[in-house]
Amino acid sequence: MPELAEVQTIVSDLHHLVGYTFKSIQTDWPKALSPSLSAFQKNLIGKKIIAVHRRAKYIAIELSDDWILLIHLRMSGRLFIREKGHKADTHVHVCFEFDRNKELRFSDQRKFGRAWMLKKSDYKTLPEIKKLGQEPLDPNFTVDDFKARFRSKKGKLKAKLLDQTLLAGIGNIYADEISFAAGLHPQSSLENLSESDLENLYHEMRRILEYAVQARGSSVGEFMDAFGNIGSAQKMHYAYGRKGLPCKVCGTTLHGIKVAQRGTSFCPKCQELK
Ligand SMILES: [Zn+2]
Repeated sequence: MPELAEVQTIVSDLHHLVGYTFKSIQTDWPKALSPSLSAFQKNLIGKKIIAVHRRAKYIAIELSDDWILLIHLRMSGRLFIREKGHKADTHVHVCFEFDRNKELRFSDQRKFGRAWMLKKSDYKTLPEIKKLGQEPLDPNFTVDDFKARFRSKKGKLKAKLLDQTLLAGIGNIYADEISFAAGLHPQSSLENLSESDLENLYHEMRRILEYAVQARGSSVGEFMDAFGNIGSAQKMHYAYGRKGLPCKVCGTTLHGIKVAQRGTSFCPKCQELK
């Protein structure tokens, strides 16, 4: 599933569409559109893209007249910016057409992705958006804020890294990578972490996510940027998806377990269970 770094990559690509105006929408999967295809046809056509930003794993495309086109890629969604007539992309179920022969294609093999057409005022109160926690890369999010947030919680480390109401945008890939980099077993109990564990966790979280954004995401599974190119952050993965392979640091075979119902890989030697 695309996470913070992958969604951020798509968002920076979508800046190429600022100034373009929606001309039409085509779909063979109207269930992806909320509230309805007719609401999209009524409210989207003629709107110009003003700005694009990310909130957690959501892509918010700001439009003229105070509308927002909100997109979540979920498991396998991809967005492609194409010239009209460019060769077909696989699994495209929604296609937005713009002026000047541009298209935005929403490809989604598993069809869990969604798009919402909202007034700006309704975006902020949308339950899915309202419940989101702290952006991990927010420049104002300090190590002290991080410690305060995690100190007040109980539970397993990985489950808390995945908790979108606590930190927004971290998924399975970066939860495994952050736990590895911090030298902590993903099933460590938060209440057992020391001040220096939490400080270390904060700095490794920022370092890994910043690197992944710079590397234009991890191309594991389906991920490609909006121009069809792959990212390179996967080259720096130490834990995610490496169950059964030797640890890049100590050579020990990585273990695989389930934490919070998610497949989890970790090094039994480098990552201490606390
Ligand atoms: Zn190791």
